[in-house]
Amino acid sequence: MSILNLLTNITPEKAYFLGGLLVANEFYFNEGQNIWSVPIRHNPGQVSQHDIKQHFDFLKIMSNDVGGKIFDSSVLGSNLGFSAGKKGFAILFQSSKYENLNVVLDNFQIIQNSDKNIKRAFLIGAFDGRSSFDRDTVTGNIRNIAVDCDDKKVHDIISALLLEFGIAALSQNESRERLSGGRPRKNQLRIPKSGLANFAINIGFISPFRFKIFRQYFSQDLPFIYNEDDILPGLKTLSSKLPNTFYEENRLDEIVIEETNNKSIIPTISQYAGVPKPKIHPSFTNGRKIYNRNPQIAINALSLANYQCEIDAAHPTFIRRKNDKPYTEPHHLVPMAFSDRFDVSLDVEENIVSLCSHCHNLLHYGKDAKDLLALLLDKRKHLLKKVGINVDIDDLYEMYKLY
Ligand SMILES: [Zn+2]
Ligand SMILES: [Zn+2]
Repeated sequence: MSILNLLTNITPEKAYFLGGLLVANEFYFNEGQNIWSVPIRHNPGQVSQHDIKQHFDFLKIMSNDVGGKIFDSSVLGSNLGFSAGKKGFAILFQSSKYENLNVVLDNFQIIQNSDKNIKRAFLIGAFDGRSSFDRDTVTGNIRNIAVDCDDKKVHDIISALLLEFGIAALSQNESRERLSGGRPRKNQLRIPKSGLANFAINIGFISPFRFKIFRQYFSQDLPFIYNEDDILPGLKTLSSKLPNTFYEENRLDEIVIEETNNKSIIPTISQYAGVPKPKIHPSFTNGRKIYNRNPQIAINALSLANYQCEIDAAHPTFIRRKNDKPYTEPHHLVPMAFSDRFDVSLDVEENIVSLCSHCHNLLHYGKDAKDLLALLLDKRKHLLKKVGINVDIDDLYEMYKLY
């Protein structure tokens, strides 16, 4: 086994780990085995357990096929540089002979000659696990993204790759020398403020924690970047193994489902209005753009569907405890998250279908969702058109990420 296995038949997954491995430059030679580490470290108190777990799960999937083994910091202990209090994990790669960084660097032209997707994956890996955000203490805005990078050659190749994406990196080693003596800090590679937007759009992160910070930042300063598809074009293609539900919008219709169960809410219309409604304005929560749903409209939609499943009226349901109506769930056929693409409101009865719990879940999570979607669009196409929502089935497949 050689670490060069990561460079043969290069894939985005391999490139990602190579990026982390080169920047970290942490490897250990012990009893004839070389252990390379891609450490993902977080300062305690900054990151939620959920975010760490999600990041761990992504990287577990990605490392499986490329020979990496993933370990939580609690298992690794201080041996692999996880000092007390640091949270995170590391992906370890083993080679059966002594190899140092130069072995990889000597063969680095493999990445340099690869396509942009590989280069991008490499850069994500370089910054994903170890970078920090330096913030302006007054405004709280991010001033730069920095990553410790001691090796001059690694510094240079990463800078060169960043330039290919239009990002000029800075090295500010001098300013980091400690004035009062002691051990100098490590050299850093920094992406200055002028390169942050490019980094957000063209490179990005896998780490949910860093990703959130980014999204927050850009929702204030660059309002046109607000959702993950805009920030991370093709993140889902970085690894074909990553389920595309990872970054999917929460099922906000759960909230509406809850409210449709309220006894006091009764339908206010007895037929579809069939006229477009003006677009509603989104609200921002933690930098996330959210279109609020009006439960009354969902109530109306369920009633207009006679409280039956619109896939098949014969689908079994049950009677609600609170209002004696058969239980079905409202679902926005054209998802609210795509409101930007339309000049009219998507929160209209014409766009809300009534589904039994089984069909609703199938539509969100099922392998056979395509058939259901086609059937529903067929039934609703006419009504949707009346309210100014023009979609064809391929649009819907794309929105639902069903390819
Ligand atoms: Zn739904
Ligand atoms: Zn059904």
